[in-house]
Amino acid sequence: MKAIRFHEHGGPEVLKYEIAPDPKILANEVLVTVRACALNHVDLAVRAGVPAWRIPLPRIVGADISGDVAKVGSLVTQVKPGDRVLLSPGVGCGQCEMCFKGLDSACRQFTVMGVFNDGGYAEYVKSAEMNVFPIPGDLTFDEAAAVPLVFLTAWHMLFTRAGLKPGEDVLVIGAGSGVGSAAIQVAKLVNARVIATAGADWKLEKARGLGADEVINHTRQSIGEEVKRITGKRGVDVVVDHVGAAVWEACFDSLATYGRLVTCGMTTGADLKVNGQGLFGRQRTILGSFMGGKGELIDVLKFIGQRKLRAVIDSVFPLQEAAAAHQKMEGRDFFGKILLHP
Ligand SMILES: [Zn+2]
Repeated sequence: MKAIRFHEHGGPEVLKYEIAPDPKILANEVLVTVRACALNHVDLAVRAGVPAWRIPLPRIVGADISGDVAKVGSLVTQVKPGDRVLLSPGVGCGQCEMCFKGLDSACRQFTVMGVFNDGGYAEYVKSAEMNVFPIPGDLTFDEAAAVPLVFLTAWHMLFTRAGLKPGEDVLVIGAGSGVGSAAIQVAKLVNARVIATAGADWKLEKARGLGADEVINHTRQSIGEEVKRITGKRGVDVVVDHVGAAVWEACFDSLATYGRLVTCGMTTGADLKVNGQGLFGRQRTILGSFMGGKGELIDVLKFIGQRKLRAVIDSVFPLQEAAAAHQKMEGRDFFGKILLHP
């Protein structure tokens, strides 16, 4: 099959469009013809190399995959060739305490598609049957690929970790990112008041289109001052962050008493300082969050199928232009998901 692989870690230029062996399925596995694969930050991290991870090379990345079933193993019972499916981006063992509790992303063997196994930057990908889901409603392949990882992450952050309640105030950092554009919508499901930040006015317009009530352009406005103004100095109940160091202080200081700061990423650095006085004195909570469980993915897909949550697609590149797609993501000049078409 044709695939994008890399044989060494590095910049986007290490991504090579080449012939790779077709995946061989086991009895409990499904072979999927990839129709669309969405980019995520994890793809960029695996390509660049993460010192703590020893990634087997060559590698095919890509965690968010939609397609049709091409072939099924002899023990597969729930899907058949021709079915339109999407794949769970997270892969747990399926038989440990955490997996049984629905906390797959806390499974000790948990991995993301395209990290320690091959992902979706290819004509075909294989998956265990338990990670294959029918595409809900009349969603296109592009929409189906744009949803799983970021909506699952936003859902887990807001509901499972931060315990968002109806009508609370939520600050969403980086509205143009996949997680940001999903978090705005997930928070609006329970009529939260959403304040969204971005670095460009055109992104703030789009954020309003997704339901953001208030917007902050962080290149010319102070996030802390604007939150104070909008909330009448009260602060917000929940902050959704995935950026880390660059906005950490502003996020923490924007929390109301009993506020919760939930973070799922540190794209600008992970070296954080915590104002201990502000933590206990204001009874605030800092929460880490990492993807989510398959049960939560099923919840997300229900709302996606009813179009109460919508995939946000920035652009589509042919598979052979994966390097250009990575450059676009690194350049931050996008809103929503960037997709590849094999
Ligand atoms: Zn497990």
